[in-house]
Amino acid sequence: MIPESYIQELLHRIDIVDLIDACVPLRRAGANYVACCPFHSEKTPSFTVSPSKQFYHCFGCGAHGTAIGFVMEYSGQGFVETVKELAARAGMPLPEDDATPRDGPRIQALTEVMARAAKYYYEQLKRSEKAIAYLRQRGVSGGIAQKFGIGYAPEGWQNLASAFEDYSTASLQQAGLVLRGEQGRLYDRFRDRVMFPIMNPKGEIIAFGGRVLGQGEPKYLNSPETPLFEKGREVFGLPQARQSLRDKNTVIVVEGYMDVVALAQHGIGNAVATLGTATTAAHIQKLLRQADRLVFCFDGDAAGRKAGWRALENSLEALPEQKTIGFVFLPESDDPDSFVRERGAEAFERLAAQAMPLSEFLLKELAARCDMTSAEGRARLVAEAKPLLGRLQTPLLRLQLVKRLAEASGFSQAEVERLCDLKPVARPAPARAARPPPSLLRPLLRLLLQKPELARRVPLEALPAHSEETRAIVKLCSMAPESGGSIPGYAALLERLRGSEEEAVLREAAAELMRQPFAEEDIDAEFNGAIDRLQEGERKRAFARLQEKVAKLGVAGLSGEEKAHYLRMLGRPGSAAG
Ligand SMILES: [Zn+2]
Repeated sequence: MIPESYIQELLHRIDIVDLIDACVPLRRAGANYVACCPFHSEKTPSFTVSPSKQFYHCFGCGAHGTAIGFVMEYSGQGFVETVKELAARAGMPLPEDDATPRDGPRIQALTEVMARAAKYYYEQLKRSEKAIAYLRQRGVSGGIAQKFGIGYAPEGWQNLASAFEDYSTASLQQAGLVLRGEQGRLYDRFRDRVMFPIMNPKGEIIAFGGRVLGQGEPKYLNSPETPLFEKGREVFGLPQARQSLRDKNTVIVVEGYMDVVALAQHGIGNAVATLGTATTAAHIQKLLRQADRLVFCFDGDAAGRKAGWRALENSLEALPEQKTIGFVFLPESDDPDSFVRERGAEAFERLAAQAMPLSEFLLKELAARCDMTSAEGRARLVAEAKPLLGRLQTPLLRLQLVKRLAEASGFSQAEVERLCDLKPVARPAPARAARPPPSLLRPLLRLLLQKPELARRVPLEALPAHSEETRAIVKLCSMAPESGGSIPGYAALLERLRGSEEEAVLREAAAELMRQPFAEEDIDAEFNGAIDRLQEGERKRAFARLQEKVAKLGVAGLSGEEKAHYLRMLGRPGSAAG
């Protein structure tokens, strides 16, 4: 856990304008900065950065966040990784309890080794007729080979000795490029293979995948796990796909490097490959940060079907609301590489667009395991679905599945929920526009965001319960240090509420404020007015509660204090009428 105070300090030291400007050139517009959004395609800028509140908001696609959020969204990195990167940039030592033994210099040395090896393999490709012929025959152009940094590891046992001064250096072995044999003799791991560099989201080479040229085994050989490379988290082709992911808002996940390369060759740039492992929840989370839709593409044989089911199981927990996952199974005997070469890009795009939704795949597979013609079989369908439904984090999708299970099994929706031990799913939240107008709380929240010092003066007891705005305001007020001193600003609050229910309302309020800030000289008067109206509202609610009690129990049912209060309220002009 990274302490909250550390995050606050980090956000304080990093300037979001500098940070974003380095990736997306910003231009001044009034109090803010604007640019064309890096997260969706647009011609006129709606991506806005607030220097005073240190956050960004896109009025086109709703992208919104702090400096930390920007790096996460832009690079696809996780939270901790991002905090570490920003801390290094700000010259902040990592917090004590999080000082993981990941030593920077060693990582850097390994990264350099990988880059050098990649360069060597890339140069060797130009000299190998055999490797060039192989790529040509697969339809790979020079431009695409360059884009992916494809190389060739020649035949022979110690080729890397010509690329590195010291072949026996430990980092070559740590990087997984050189192995030590039984007699202690060192030799290259990759020999006579076409080499695909695997990069992290930053574009650094962290591993290689090598494909055999002829019929040898194994067909694909990957780097082992090293300090740089953790298989279950990385994918092949992510940096190359980034622009296309943004344009299409869809990521296609295939099984092999050549599939990614062949698709890119045919103009389908938004594909990535997992690295010889099943797709993990970490993969899915990482990829769904880059696009709203994920399409798995598997071979049409039994192995592909099985891999698809594993991916589905891993998707259940990782699937956030508002994101979708689809499944494509290619005709038997095809893989994406052969499919796109034989039938062209359009046919492939069509398949991806018509991918089977996760819910449909789930039901189809389960139904295939049960005898749907008998009552027992249909009951079994529900029993089989139970563990899967329990893992879903998204109420909407769960509801959808429960409905379809009910249709398929003949049970009622309520019976399916009971059989699966599900608490009834809350009805989908009404669209934001349909909510009662947050007439008092929303302006109060905006005032507090603009001038956090006001948080000390909010009468918390006067806030109506059961409102997201109230919860956000309470959180904000709780961040005010008791000893005085400055109250952390919007960005710190947003990080504190990362992933919470209140996050959405906070983002909305900040975006509204970005469009229409309060005039500095009016803020105090606006605030006092809002507090007066709130307190008046609370008085009315308190009076209504007492009236209800009186109606039930008579005035005698009130405590002495309540009675005094009730009588006082009765005498107050205007209150009783409310
Ligand atoms: Zn946008």
